[in-house]
Amino acid sequence: EAVGPTIVAGEILVEIMATERGFGFLEPQTLTGPFPSGAPAIFIDQVGRLGGGAGIIGCVGRDDFGTLNLERLKRDGVDVAAVDISDRFPTGCAFVRYRPDGGRDFVYNIAESAAGQIHLTTAARVLADKAGHLHIMGSTLSIAGLKEIVAYAGKAVRARGGSTSFDPNMRKELIAGADGALFSALVDDADLLLPSGDELLAAAGIDDEQQAVTALFARGVGEIVLKRGADGSSWFGADGARIDCAGFLVEEVDPTGAGDCFGATYLTCRRQGMEPGKALLYANAAGARNVTRRGPMEGVAGFDVLDQFIAGTARRT
Ligand code: ATP
Ligand code: MG
Repeated sequence: EAVGPTIVAGEILVEIMATERGFGFLEPQTLTGPFPSGAPAIFIDQVGRLGGGAGIIGCVGRDDFGTLNLERLKRDGVDVAAVDISDRFPTGCAFVRYRPDGGRDFVYNIAESAAGQIHLTTAARVLADKAGHLHIMGSTLSIAGLKEIVAYAGKAVRARGGSTSFDPNMRKELIAGADGALFSALVDDADLLLPSGDELLAAAGIDDEQQAVTALFARGVGEIVLKRGADGSSWFGADGARIDCAGFLVEEVDPTGAGDCFGATYLTCRRQGMEPGKALLYANAAGARNVTRRGPMEGVAGFDVLDQFIAGTARRT
């Protein structure tokens, strides 16, 4: 394992959420927030909390929404030197309201916010040049500057003997679109692939779980961890080994951020030399604990908290 922090690039946002379930934002209602958010930010904050070296490439506005994110990331041990501060664009934001059935309605401002201005700055190069691991998220690739950053950082990390992980985090409809070739290349290059649900099948283009796993290893993927929501997760090794981890029984208050906390925890445990089974248990705990807290980043947890959670929480059988 190469030395150097785990790094990620992408949107840093605030999230503002409706306190009551319902449908969207068509009438006045009670909102709560701002909470620090953005999938890459949630991910890297959890890496930092676990004591893993962590850094993020991003852009926020010169406003309170930017400051509250930077303060949180710094507090949790994340290097924010490569977060650009825009004088012109405000920090990105997402309004979310849960529907009675658990679905979500969103109003976003990302593309036209500071987050949409992310590009390969000198500070971003400096961070990439000392990184030991690059985590890539499919959902962020729609930001124009991200492709160049991923290309540069991927090369820099590889040159140092480092590794990469990829969370496809992308709808089937989009994978088939213009970015199909890039998406396939990122899957092929991933030392660790972190799909959730059907993303595994979509990444392989195959409709059977085991066949999809086999096909992905044939393409060069190093290891696969499949997220199954409340049902837990599964690990697949290139040699055909498999470990299943049952989900913890928790009350789901806010599912946003579970996948990012999970992935960050699995990766950080592995980078610290833990075997897959133990890393998977910690990751399951991190994902489950995160859904019990309102606010996407409010459930991030260090090893002490995760140990307590594991000892005190029942699992599905
Ligand atoms: P996101 O919704 O943030 O994109 P995801 O779809 O990538 O997440 P999930 O499978 O929803 O990933 O959640 C990641 C992990 O968190 C799961 O594999 C599981 O370990 C844990 N988890 C998520 N939701 C629950 C839940 N309701 N109960 C217990 N554990 C959960
Ligand atoms: Mg989910």
